[in-house]
Amino acid sequence: MDDLIFPKKEWCLTNEQEQLCNLSKNLGSKRFSKRAFKYDSEASFPVENYKDLAEKGLLGICVPKKYGGFGADLKTYMLAAAEIGRYCGATALTFNMHVSSCLWTSFLIDDLKLDEEIKIEHERLRSEHYKRIIQDGKIYAQPFSEGGAAAAGFKAFGTNALKVPDGWVINGRKIFASLSGHADYYGVLCSAIRKKDECGSRKNTMYLAVPNNADGVSVEGDWDPLGMRGTVSRTLVFRDVFVFEKEQLMPAGVYPEAAARWPHMFMTLTPAYMGIAQAAFDFTIKYLRGEVEGMAPVKRRMYPTKQLAVAEMKVMLEQTKAIWFQAISEAGPDPSKESLMRAYVAQYTVMENSNKLTQLALRTCGGQAMLKTLPLERLYRDSRCGSLMLPWTAELCLDKLGTSTLYEEGESD
Ligand SMILES: Cc1cc2nc3c(=O)[nH]c(=O)nc-3n(C[C@H](O)[C@H](O)[C@H](O)COP(=O)(O)OP(=O)(O)OC[C@H]3O[C@@H](n4cnc5c(N)ncnc54)[C@H](O)[C@@H]3O)c2cc1C
Repeated sequence: MDDLIFPKKEWCLTNEQEQLCNLSKNLGSKRFSKRAFKYDSEASFPVENYKDLAEKGLLGICVPKKYGGFGADLKTYMLAAAEIGRYCGATALTFNMHVSSCLWTSFLIDDLKLDEEIKIEHERLRSEHYKRIIQDGKIYAQPFSEGGAAAAGFKAFGTNALKVPDGWVINGRKIFASLSGHADYYGVLCSAIRKKDECGSRKNTMYLAVPNNADGVSVEGDWDPLGMRGTVSRTLVFRDVFVFEKEQLMPAGVYPEAAARWPHMFMTLTPAYMGIAQAAFDFTIKYLRGEVEGMAPVKRRMYPTKQLAVAEMKVMLEQTKAIWFQAISEAGPDPSKESLMRAYVAQYTVMENSNKLTQLALRTCGGQAMLKTLPLERLYRDSRCGSLMLPWTAELCLDKLGTSTLYEEGESD
C-alpha cells in the first residue's frame, strides 16, 4: 500500500487531515486505479467512482459539519483530493468542480464577515444545496468558461440571468463543462441583468445552480480530447432556462467579493495534478525496481543514468510538494502581495512540473512504459491539461508574477 503523499508526521497534518487523506487514498488505490483505463479509453464519465465517493460521504467533504458533511477547509480538501488524483486524474478534476460549489459557499464565505442580513439569506440558500448533496447524493458541476476573457477574470460573463418574478431566466453557453450530462446541478456563473438588452458587468456576477433537467438546458458537441478524457467536458447551452430564486448559490453581489478576497480558491484545480506528479514518480520507482504488477520482474535500477534521472525527478517532486504545501497552508482571505504571488508560483509549479515529471518518467522507463496497458502514457496526457486551465493558466501566472514583481499598486509607465 502506498504511503500518503504528505505523511502526517513529517508535514504536521491534523488527525482529520490524515483520516480524509487515508479515506481518499484507499478508495483511489483499491477502486479508482482499476477503472481509470476504461474511463480514459472510452472518454466516459467515472460514474462508478462517484457512487463510491457518495457512499464514503466524500461528496460532502467541504459541507459544514452542522449540515452533515466533513467540514473540511481548503487545505484539508486539497490534501485529500491529491490522493484521488494519484489514481484517477479525471475523477479528481471533476470532484474539484463538485467540491468547489461547497467550498465557495462554506468556510470561504464564512471567513468574509458579511453583513448579518446577507449571512441569514446565505444560510437559507446553502442549506438547500447541502441537503441535496448530503441526503440525496446530488452532484454539482462548475461551468464557468465561455471561450472569451470572462473565465480569465477580465470581462463580464456572456451568460445572462434576467431577473423575473420568483427567479431568473438564463441564456448563454459554457464550454469545457466538466461533468456535462452527469451532474445533477450546474453551478453557473452569469451576469445578472434587469432588462433583456442590458449589458452584464463583473460586479453583477451571479452564481446559480441550474438543474440538469430544467427546460432549455442541452449538452452539445463531442468530447474526444488529448487528456482528462473522463471529465466529459462538453458544451452546455442554456436557452431561456427558468430557475427559482432558491437556486442562487450565494446572495447577489457576494461572488465578486469572494473571488477578489479569497484568490487562493483558484488553486483548487491543482490537487488532481499534484496527485499525477506523485503517481509518475511512484510508477518510475516500481518500474526500475522491476515491481510493476503484470510485468516481468526485470530490474533497471543498477544503471547510473536511471539513478540520475530518478534523482532529478525526486528533486522536482519535493520542490513541487514544498511550494504547494506552503501555499495551501497560508491560504486565507485578503492575502498579502507576497502570499498571493506564492500562490501563483505554486499553481505554475504544480501544473508545469506534473507534466515535466511524466515526461521524465517516460524517458527514464523507456519504450515499454509507453504502452496503454500501463498508466504512464495516460498520466502524461492528463498532466498536459493542467497549465491550460483558467483563470490561472501557466501563462497568466507568469503574466501576474511579472507585473506584480516590478510594479507596486497604483504604479504604471
Ligand atoms: C480537462 C479540462 C476540463 C475543464 N473543465 C472545466 C470546467 O468544468 N469548468 C470550466 O469553467 N472550465 C473548464 N475547463 C476550461 C479551462 O479552464 C479553460 O477555460 C479552457 O481551457 C480555456 O480554453 P480557451 O482555449 O478558450 O482559452 P483562451 O481564453 O483562448 O485562452 C488561451 C490562453 O491564452 C491566455 N490568456 C487568456 N486570456 C488572456 C489575457 N487576457 N491575457 C493574457 N493571456 C491570456 C491563457 O494562458 C490561456 O490559456 C476545462 C479545461 C480542461 C482542459
